[in-house]
Amino acid sequence: MTDPSSPQRDPDCIFCKIVAGELPATIVDQDDRTVAFMDISPATRGHALVVPRRHWHNLLEIAPDDLRATVLAAQRLAARVVERLGADGVNLLNSCGPAAWQTVFHFHVHVIPRYDGDPLRLPWTPAEGDKQEIEAAAAALR
Ligand code: 5GP
Ligand code: ZN
Repeated sequence: MTDPSSPQRDPDCIFCKIVAGELPATIVDQDDRTVAFMDISPATRGHALVVPRRHWHNLLEIAPDDLRATVLAAQRLAARVVERLGADGVNLLNSCGPAAWQTVFHFHVHVIPRYDGDPLRLPWTPAEGDKQEIEAAAAALR
């Protein structure tokens, strides 16, 4: 089930400490691979984080089984924030790397309940892109 060669925990990681019960957190869900707890600085009412129990730095590092379990746990919590908190929508967010705003380097998915009229905004302004730029990026990605 779990790969014994993968990193178990990082002694300096706050999320590892939360998973181990060494730091307090408001846990709302858990299973054999994941733990979900409330974000200490919520973007909206009910903002929570889902983490794998094992320490993986980020999206590029996490093993498929832990990624699958974490995303499924995030989906479970997303359904719950709609049902129990009356959220009108949900954003799942993962930041991978400092350039993408990652500040805690233990992989996590934010489950952010969204409410009609809440103050959150897209972090970019949608505008028509340059066709050649888009094609060039696509060519590099194929
Ligand atoms: P990131 O910026 O890496 O995407 O997300 C890190 C998140 O962890 C932030 O939303 C931040 O509020 C939250 N956070 C940081 N330290 C703690 C903590 O000690 N406890 C809890 N519950 N959340 C934390
Ligand atoms: Zn960790």
